[in-house]
Amino acid sequence: MLAASHHYFQKASDVLDLSDNLRDILLTPFRVVKVDLVTEDDNGDLLHHMGYRVQHNRARGPMKGGLRYHPTMDEEHATALANLMTWKTAVVDVPFGGAKGGIDCDPAKLTERELAGITRRFVEQVKEVIGPTIDIPAPDVNTNAKVMGWIMDDYSKYYGFSPGVVTGKPLELFGSPGREEATGRGVMYCLEQALSDMGKSFSDITVAVQGFGNVGSHAARLIAEQGAKIVAVADHLGGVQKADGLDIPSLIEYVTNNKERSVKGYPDADAFDNSEIVTWDADVFVPAALEEVITKDNAGDVRAKIVVEGANGPTTPEADEILHKNGVLVIPDILANAGGVTVSYFEWAQNIQQFRWELDRITDELSKKMRTAYASVRDVAKERKVDMRTAAFVLAITRVGKAATSRYHSLRGVKF
Ligand code: NAD
Repeated sequence: MLAASHHYFQKASDVLDLSDNLRDILLTPFRVVKVDLVTEDDNGDLLHHMGYRVQHNRARGPMKGGLRYHPTMDEEHATALANLMTWKTAVVDVPFGGAKGGIDCDPAKLTERELAGITRRFVEQVKEVIGPTIDIPAPDVNTNAKVMGWIMDDYSKYYGFSPGVVTGKPLELFGSPGREEATGRGVMYCLEQALSDMGKSFSDITVAVQGFGNVGSHAARLIAEQGAKIVAVADHLGGVQKADGLDIPSLIEYVTNNKERSVKGYPDADAFDNSEIVTWDADVFVPAALEEVITKDNAGDVRAKIVVEGANGPTTPEADEILHKNGVLVIPDILANAGGVTVSYFEWAQNIQQFRWELDRITDELSKKMRTAYASVRDVAKERKVDMRTAAFVLAITRVGKAATSRYHSLRGVKF
């Protein structure tokens, strides 16, 4: 994944004609933190994990990005995702840099008490390098509002009341209304803009969605509410399809109430093998689950005319070329899934102001941010005659570069 994000960065840097030296400066993380986490399980035996926090770039503000709890979490993964955060925050123009981190644990194999213990040990180890004006973690894969609540609580023990140290907190603990659905809502706004440019509306289209967790389920619900038909949904256990359109609220209820939290077995639709979702016969495909699902092997068979990347890194560089050649419009992750970090910014702003915004205000501001970002990326794409992903990177690198050159004396004379 690091290779893919570097590839897209280099492609945009070629468009901007950046020197090798400057590319190197913009790609190198500001700080890489790796910590040893020794805790006890519920029986008093030792648990041993590694924690990571990669702080990529802080030219545009405090660094921002999720914490992922997954057995495959490592420095390279955190670095790739931290990189993407720098460009994502710049594309939607929120005043943050980029960071990412996590712990190489499997929450499914830990009790809540054990998970809380590991999280608190992580805070103890990284507390000097995070904070509301330094680096603000948020939920990512396998972390949630509860974990953010533990982090806020622990950090506040050392530094006093500090709700702005993390975002994605529970609503009762200084979280923001609208944060949970924000990424899915951003996906919907991007699709709305793309359709409008093509002279189409939601009622003209069918949509296939991969992943029915936070991003996929909210995106599907909001897109269906606009009048589109969601004809297929797949998750880790299976897929369900209905040519007339799935009843998304009912599917959400089914998934919420089954133990495996899967669409598999949903009675009011036909089942299919989840591997078929990428090439489903629908106008739009929303990958909202995993990395690298559109590859050189299946990209040529993608039937959608629009791909909206709800997930991070769902398309490999080779697949990206094939989609572009075939005239598929790809709305890239650093734009399409930036709704989450945008509402995280609103949450942080509310925490700093100690003033709660109403949901209407959040939705309104998110809509403005996403529409403006989409229009800016589209304008760069037209002006530079490049695809939307390259345009998003060009826009982001330019914004980060401008901030860095205004800030650091050593970069005087470099033009963006
Ligand atoms: P989640 O854990 O809530 O949901 C993940 C979904 O993916 C689940 O429905 C799961 O069943 C499905 N899935 C897993 N393996 C699969 C497989 N092999 N085939 C099909 N589906 C599979 O996670 P999420 O928060 O919705 O995140 C999804 C993606 O979006 C990740 O790439 C994440 O980094 C990215 N993202 C999330 C947010 C956010 O605010 N949650 C913001 C930006 C980007």
